[in-house]
Amino acid sequence: MEQSIESYIKTLVRDVIGQTLGGLEIQSDRQTYVIANWKMNKNLNETAEFFQKIHSSPDVSVVICPPVQLLYPSHLFIKQSGKPLGLGGQNVHWADKGAYTGESSATMLKDVGCEYVIIGHSERRQYSFEDDELVNKKVQQAIKSGLIPIICIGETLGQKNAMQTEQVLSKQLFGALKDIDSSQFILAYEPVWAIGTGQSATAELAQETHAYIRSVLKQIIGQKAECISILYGGSANEKNASEYSAMPDIDGVLVGGASLHAESFDAIINVFAKGEQKS
Ligand code: PEP
Repeated sequence: MEQSIESYIKTLVRDVIGQTLGGLEIQSDRQTYVIANWKMNKNLNETAEFFQKIHSSPDVSVVICPPVQLLYPSHLFIKQSGKPLGLGGQNVHWADKGAYTGESSATMLKDVGCEYVIIGHSERRQYSFEDDELVNKKVQQAIKSGLIPIICIGETLGQKNAMQTEQVLSKQLFGALKDIDSSQFILAYEPVWAIGTGQSATAELAQETHAYIRSVLKQIIGQKAECISILYGGSANEKNASEYSAMPDIDGVLVGGASLHAESFDAIINVFAKGEQKS
């Protein structure tokens, strides 16, 4: 995807400048992303139909993350359509290869056309017991293999009610980014209580939390934190997208339910493509 090569080069240049200029402020020019997480949904016909209907925009990086068996057909549909859409996996194994039944390696994902991979989604943390250490191993493997990790973090309702949000996010960030010497990653703040519930975080709360996340990121990677795209995820849809897009630290959205229909997903892309005036 042309756009992501361009953004890769931009980030690389910023990395070098960041290392050279040390603590100096870096002018931020963050990439906007609208990313679809289809989870365990869709068959081949529905996938073909989606790629026929979906539009793209030169102003937004649109990435589709289908289930693993639909990755290669999706790659072919994207090529056939000529639309500048990116492709991502929903999970990756930390090892290069080996006896890991049912798993996919980073090189396998790349081989079927992926440039991105979601890591540490709360559903995997919950159902597959992925902890920060495992998330970190997967992030390392993705970066080493040339995939851009979309790292998910977020607090549960219990943690929110116990006023532990900042503590939880900080631990997840330090854990996921341990020994990572790269800014080739995307963060997604996905409060667990907002995922699939229709109870989206208000844009104000999301902005406040994203600003906090960026402040922690600064402690970890310094001024390069200004260049990292932080996406909001959790019941984002065509109705609330414009509120998120107006916020200065919200650089796009990771969308589950509303990404399954080309019409609603298109509407979200359009909102971010218009580039609402950031407040
Ligand atoms: C997700 O699971 O990444 C997600 C954001 O889901 P939903 O939009 O359905 O809440």
